[in-house]
Amino acid sequence: MFFKKSIFFGNIVKVTKCAWQYHDKNDDLGPVFDYYRYCANEAIRIGIEKKITSKFKLYYQLYHKLRLDSQFHCKHVYGALECAASRLKIYKKTLKKKPNAKRPYISKNHLILDNQSYKIEKNIVRIPTESGKYVFIKLTNYVYKKIMDTKLGNITITDDKIIISYSRDIKEQNPTNSVGIDRNLENVTTYNSQGNCIVYDLAKAQRIVTSYCRIKSKFRRNDSRIRKKIFQKYGKLQKNRAHSILHYTSKKIVSENSGIIMENLKGIRKLYKKGNWQGRKHRQKMNSWSFYELQRQIEYKARWLGLPVEYVKANGTSTKCAICGSRLVPEEHRKMFCSICKSGVDRDVNAAHNILLRGTRVVPNGIAGEAVMAELDSKEQVICRVDAVKSCDGINLPIT
Ligand SMILES: [Zn+2]
Repeated sequence: MFFKKSIFFGNIVKVTKCAWQYHDKNDDLGPVFDYYRYCANEAIRIGIEKKITSKFKLYYQLYHKLRLDSQFHCKHVYGALECAASRLKIYKKTLKKKPNAKRPYISKNHLILDNQSYKIEKNIVRIPTESGKYVFIKLTNYVYKKIMDTKLGNITITDDKIIISYSRDIKEQNPTNSVGIDRNLENVTTYNSQGNCIVYDLAKAQRIVTSYCRIKSKFRRNDSRIRKKIFQKYGKLQKNRAHSILHYTSKKIVSENSGIIMENLKGIRKLYKKGNWQGRKHRQKMNSWSFYELQRQIEYKARWLGLPVEYVKANGTSTKCAICGSRLVPEEHRKMFCSICKSGVDRDVNAAHNILLRGTRVVPNGIAGEAVMAELDSKEQVICRVDAVKSCDGINLPIT
């Protein structure tokens, strides 16, 4: 059993995490936010005009101009220029796909400071505003405990939140076990190398998402400002409720302390676009599927412990038999039947088993060799069939 990057095991890697909390609104931060936004937007304007996307070139062009007559701390200019440079890079990329893309503009109140600019003493963060003037924010015990013995990174401050990134060095583990994870709309199924299978129910999280979608669809007033406010409110509530269930699940999966293997679902949203011969309700349901959030949580939690995370192709994981490799015949209630093994199998368990086998380079029928390795190593992945079975009711959809 081995992973693709097996030669790198034992390496020391840097892993990063974020901790955040709310803070009380401070009026002293208001002018700093305005100055930061002014600097960033000015840098974006000049960057587009002179076609600059490099951070250092922006410093060279703009630093003295922006520092002129300003009483604010010079570190804010650095933060703003860095922020502008990253926005310009994204804009340059999107221009290739969409020539009429909207110009970037920073409208939100925020500050980004590097770890040289702020100071944490005991549980109080000191943020410079002007020369000799500071703003103090008290950290909660929870956040302070998390960042206590770690290396501190950038800090982001918004109107009501403070986000601190922290990192540590960890030795990459080489776990003896690995676990294949199959993500579905209403459950997550894991299958580990000892043959144990666990099904985590996520139906509640999906119910929360659909109920908020229904509430939002009832909004009738033709006023975009009020709509934005109300949608933001419901979006926050939905996120808080649904993500806590996902956090619970991802924590349990990672606590097994084995290598993580997941299917690569990049580009799956393209299958549920308008004009793909699917119903509106079905598309709405499939597009509200939060597969990426669970993947993100599992990945960062596993990396924090030094566990390897790998992605495999998603094609045909639930239609091929994990034991003999032949095509399965669908039956009722998410059951599949293998005509060669002469046995029925749950489709999610079979998919998780297949993912585990792909990740650990064991192929059904026992074929092994360079040809198979080459096929599994290729990174390009095309999902060319509408996979109706990700949803639990398994409606038969026309194949595009
Ligand atoms: Zn079979």
